[in-house]
Amino acid sequence: MSAAAYTGRLAPSPTGALHIGNARTFMVAWLRARSLGGRILMRIEDLDHPHNKPGAAEQALEDLRWLGFDWDGGETVQSSRRAVYREACARLSADGSIYPCVCSRADVERAQSAPHAGEQLYYPGTCRGRFRTWDEAAAFCAPRVPLWRFSTAAPGGTVSFTDNFAGPRSVDVARTLGDFPVARDRDGAGYMLASVVDDHLQGVTEIVRGDDLLQATAPQTMIARALGFAFPETFHVPLAVGENGMRLAKRHGDTRIASFRAAGARPEDVVGFLAASCGLLPEPAPCRLCELVPLFDPARIPRKPFVWRGTDGTSVRDALRYATRYM
Ligand code: GLU
Repeated sequence: MSAAAYTGRLAPSPTGALHIGNARTFMVAWLRARSLGGRILMRIEDLDHPHNKPGAAEQALEDLRWLGFDWDGGETVQSSRRAVYREACARLSADGSIYPCVCSRADVERAQSAPHAGEQLYYPGTCRGRFRTWDEAAAFCAPRVPLWRFSTAAPGGTVSFTDNFAGPRSVDVARTLGDFPVARDRDGAGYMLASVVDDHLQGVTEIVRGDDLLQATAPQTMIARALGFAFPETFHVPLAVGENGMRLAKRHGDTRIASFRAAGARPEDVVGFLAASCGLLPEPAPCRLCELVPLFDPARIPRKPFVWRGTDGTSVRDALRYATRYM
């Protein structure tokens, strides 16, 4: 990849406050772009309406600026770009790449041949070819709404790629996921489609994000191909987890950046802690984000999830002290 052309992005979802785990992934994304002399864009992914929290986007931007992040150009807000997604959605439905599906989650669960523990359910294509339009499907299943699914009927359902952190992957989407969901919205304004469209239109060359989204890469690549786009390169960073191995959440204590700030932490305390968690400093020591640019080296990032241990229910200040001493 030519350094000058590198374009990355930070894509927060305003579904909650920015916590130490999100900040860590964003730090890797930012350092990756800046260490390659590239650009980094800011995109607010606010299409997940029921889960959006009022003010969370503004708070995340403020928290990131406080930590020392900057980005190139203004912020792109997905909820203001529905027309763009509508156009992509119309193209995909016109050529049969996507179709409206009226099956409920319970219907899909019943159709599984083996119990599925995770979120990712196999969908055999029950509604493929069943409705001519979204409106026809919507009338059929009202008051529920349909969702758009991607048809994996065409050959080429296996996607192979080499993640720049996680390494080579090959996923037979047709066999493992089947016709996967693309959006729960008539205009296609949902995360899966919108992020593919935006990454293309914004010229993103590499996606750096948490490895919970590694499994989204193959389906998103198929969406991109159906639209005639090349999918960007990817770099998936292991997530931050609590001591129980679950992704960092409220039950692991208050790890919100705003809380550290309110408790008197300085940005360089938090950045230094995160830098050590990424193997960029031997141990936590106050450090400014921009000082890490020359130190950034993907090979130093631990390959395992980062375990947050400040879980003893103490105050944020204690948690930070704990973290910086005993990490
Ligand atoms: N908005 C997503 C999140 O906050 C990230 C999506 C992506 O990077 O593709 O989890």
